[in-house]
Amino acid sequence: MNDLHQLTIHEAHKLLKEKKISSVELTKAALKHLRKVDGIVRACVTITEEQAIKDAQSADKAIAKGDIKPLTGIPSLIKDVICTKGIRTTCSSKMLENFIPPYDANVIEKLKADNYVILGKTNMDEFAMGSSTENSAFFTTHNPWNLDCVPGGSSGGSAASVAIDEAIYALGSDTGGSIRQPAGFCGVVGLKPTYGRVSRFGLVAFASSLDQIGPVTKDVTDCAIVMNSISGHDKRDSTTVPLEVPDYTQALKPDIKNIRIGIPREYLPEGMQPEVRQAIEAAVKKLEELGARVDWNVSLPNTKYGLAAYYILAPSEASANLARYDGVKYGYSYRDTTNMWDAMQKTKQFGFGAEVKRRIMLGTYALSAGYYDAYYLKAQKVRTLIKRDFEQAFQSYDVLVTPTSPTVAFKIGEKADDPVQMYLSDVCTLPINIAGIPAISIPAGFVNGLPVGLQLIGKHFAEETLLQVAFAYEQATPWHTMKPSVA
Ligand code: GLN
Repeated sequence: MNDLHQLTIHEAHKLLKEKKISSVELTKAALKHLRKVDGIVRACVTITEEQAIKDAQSADKAIAKGDIKPLTGIPSLIKDVICTKGIRTTCSSKMLENFIPPYDANVIEKLKADNYVILGKTNMDEFAMGSSTENSAFFTTHNPWNLDCVPGGSSGGSAASVAIDEAIYALGSDTGGSIRQPAGFCGVVGLKPTYGRVSRFGLVAFASSLDQIGPVTKDVTDCAIVMNSISGHDKRDSTTVPLEVPDYTQALKPDIKNIRIGIPREYLPEGMQPEVRQAIEAAVKKLEELGARVDWNVSLPNTKYGLAAYYILAPSEASANLARYDGVKYGYSYRDTTNMWDAMQKTKQFGFGAEVKRRIMLGTYALSAGYYDAYYLKAQKVRTLIKRDFEQAFQSYDVLVTPTSPTVAFKIGEKADDPVQMYLSDVCTLPINIAGIPAISIPAGFVNGLPVGLQLIGKHFAEETLLQVAFAYEQATPWHTMKPSVA
């Protein structure tokens, strides 16, 4: 048997159900391992040891009464952008360094109803702005496969922690790729659900029309299990859709005969790492062997505007969302002055890091009266075109397959001073948020010892199809069983 901290959700659940282990044992094993390795990868901003043991004890009580759900008693880590009542929620920002939310996010309420266990909160790019976790105001997280490399971002802490078995699973958030890109870089599974599938209530807002919470897991089965728990309508998030939540685990059938797969050529750009391309080609070949019908001749012509549109839309929304951090209501407050304007200005000056300020300035500019039509309105129109490209493609294909990123994980510091290079690492993931559709990243090989992510994209609310194809691929390949040596 694996060491307890190495288990997947479904393996741990089985042992808990058969009473072969207790949640307290499992949680203690996870905490012990976390204490040992987190100094190396630095995935956690906060470790909630006491709370974890309390949660595990109440899970054990529930299990003793026969009340066990798939996530009952299973230790998790939560990205530090998701509000947890009574537990510090920082967004890896000085602005919220001491913020303790008085309420839980909807997803946390749901996990609590399942008697989950929280081990702590994970590091991220400040306010989820970034692709490497280097924008954290506290420290950089390391990629467990190569400690000199970034884990990706912004959910870098969540992805690294799952890859190194600190937690059995984690939650992340994805505005332009922040679940899938780090999942790809760290060799784990990450799903960005359809916009409106999971409530954003209690998710600290970055770009509200793009943000979505989703699972980071060790395999596809676990991804389906977490989706079952966190999905659904919430009257406090009017963008959630009142559709019934299917049992996603029912989609896990390794049969993909006649599934129609398209490979959009714009997602295999000239500049991509050739070895990543080869890995993707091999993965597609595997899907073909498994019975899928593959078409390499697909085009989503407006993809080329995706990056530009995203970097108008996301900063515009961010500039509005972040206006609330004025030093008056909550968060960091500059007090060394008697002048109110000075206090407000310095609060932002010292409370926010460089990337967050850059986004606020870009967004404020794009939304200003003289430029609104030229930038924001134009970007909204492009958004419609990008969405239409996908709608059209999904008339002929069930799933679109692309790399999650054009490269494997890059070196820490390599792109930190060049925002545009950093932005480019999300070219394959951003258009999915722009269109509001779901996509999953699954492990699909290695290049120079670093994981390659394969992205599967589906139409609105087609998470089941994605899980089905992902599961079939996973069952036929060894990638998800491989572990970094530090683990
Ligand atoms: N890297 C992208 C950005 O910086 C996406 C971030 C995200 O998905 N939260 O905006």
